[in-house]
Amino acid sequence: MKTWQCTVCKYIHKGDAPPEKCPICGVPASKFIEIDPAEAEALAAKKKRPPAKKAASPDDQAKTETAAPAAPEPAPPKKDRKPYDILTDLMVQHHAHPVSVHFPNGVLPVAVMVFVLAWLFDSTLLSQVGMVNLIFVLLVLPFVLYSGVIEWQKKYMQAMTVIFKIKILAAAITTASCVISLAWVLIEPDVLTRPHAWAFILINVVMIAAAGVAGHIGGKLVFKD
Ligand SMILES: [Zn+2]
Repeated sequence: MKTWQCTVCKYIHKGDAPPEKCPICGVPASKFIEIDPAEAEALAAKKKRPPAKKAASPDDQAKTETAAPAAPEPAPPKKDRKPYDILTDLMVQHHAHPVSVHFPNGVLPVAVMVFVLAWLFDSTLLSQVGMVNLIFVLLVLPFVLYSGVIEWQKKYMQAMTVIFKIKILAAAITTASCVISLAWVLIEPDVLTRPHAWAFILINVVMIAAAGVAGHIGGKLVFKD
């Protein structure tokens, strides 16, 4: 039995041939490469180890390389790299996207819950609380989206399979509904005490659902299950 690795999401498959389609990211069999089974085990072991693998010092880096020969990662020679490349590589290496996305993912549900409470109890104060939460989400979203694009370009080789299309669409819907909600509540602060408040709540429900879809796909890509 051979061991195959998806070059896009690094999913490992065991079998005589690679799967027709990667079960995680959906790329075709041609994107799989055959790897040494020992290398696959080393990669799996490395994944279980908590410390970050990319070391700051050359000494640590040497250690990592001996411990586990990693899958091919496109890394141009350091001398030729521009500051922008160094910065974006660092973002990917230190998981800027998954880390930053926890902020809106944590705050968005609170904003929506507070808006629902404001609607149920006719409270302008609670709707202001929700509004403040949305302001914070909107401040962070540009970085979240930017780091997501960088990760998609650098880590997932700009793969355009269904899973990535859904993730991009979900991110766009989350952002658009966040902008609309915030603009609406700023223009009409007592929207949740009005008869058309249901439309405002609906936008918020769409926003939380889209954020959930994007998060779910992100988790699938990271954890491969
Ligand atoms: Zn894959």
